[in-house]
Amino acid sequence: MKKIALEEHFTTPDMSAYAHGPGSSMNRQRFGQFEQRLLDFGEMRLEAMDEADIDLAVLSVTSPGVQAEPDARLAIRRAQDANDGLARVVAAHPTRYAGFAHLPLQDADVAAGELTRCVEQLGFKGAMINGHTNGRYLDEGMYDPFWERVQALGVPIYLHPRDPYDRPHAYQGHPELLGATWSWTVETASHALRLVFGGVFDRFPKLTLILGHMGETLPYLLWRLDSRSRIQARLSGEKILQRLPSDIIRKNIVVTTTGVCAHPALICALSALGEDSVLFSVDYPYEDCSVAAAFVDSAPINETTRAKICHGNAQRLLRI
Ligand code: MN
Repeated sequence: MKKIALEEHFTTPDMSAYAHGPGSSMNRQRFGQFEQRLLDFGEMRLEAMDEADIDLAVLSVTSPGVQAEPDARLAIRRAQDANDGLARVVAAHPTRYAGFAHLPLQDADVAAGELTRCVEQLGFKGAMINGHTNGRYLDEGMYDPFWERVQALGVPIYLHPRDPYDRPHAYQGHPELLGATWSWTVETASHALRLVFGGVFDRFPKLTLILGHMGETLPYLLWRLDSRSRIQARLSGEKILQRLPSDIIRKNIVVTTTGVCAHPALICALSALGEDSVLFSVDYPYEDCSVAAAFVDSAPINETTRAKICHGNAQRLLRI
């Protein structure tokens, strides 16, 4: 079945340095295995897409990009350059590629302006944000003007993993738990829950946040989030959210299938969030397009649901 994929990465010479930079769980050698495919927009990438029936890939800078840049002015310039470069790639292959903006969230106003430019002038479909920006999370008050703009533009924001700001003691002596195996999931789910409990979706109720990796475990945990958070808030005298966390997650968060090619997890996401909230993606080049495609093509679901996951939900959300 024909597919649209939303978590498909590229790099530039500037961006590669951040991917294996200080604090990253990805070293230069491991990154090197992917770099050629990240830099390519031609035959290699298109062939992998064709094998998996992927018509359209929405491209994004590989994590963390300029969000790891301490110099805000440099971050701004490099994000603009990356977006301009991506716009040229999309213009050269308008039926195969679309773009998610890369944003310098060191400055919320500049990020809002750059998102506006990317959506209105470059035709991008939203933005991908690679987790915290030098330790700042998107529920902080400084980002309210940014969210206001996102809501006004009506585009989704894809919250993508990156390494935690400081490495928890629990991972000591267990490097296998860092990165995609576990620590990125914890980090990204925590960030999304900061947005939920921080009231961002109460202040901006029309936002749509996209989470990869079948929702970073959240679909599995809805009941527990509702039950425990209320008890916890009562015990500590904190403000109780007007809506249940599960209501917010169902209304404001959609998930992609990147990197979780397992039917039980897909069924859980569909049953927890609904068939309009699950979207196919691969995580190219870190995951294999053919494996991801075979997984969704063989999933034990009806053809209407499969069509929504493979392309229908993306067409609606990204207005394609
Ligand atoms: Mn990814």
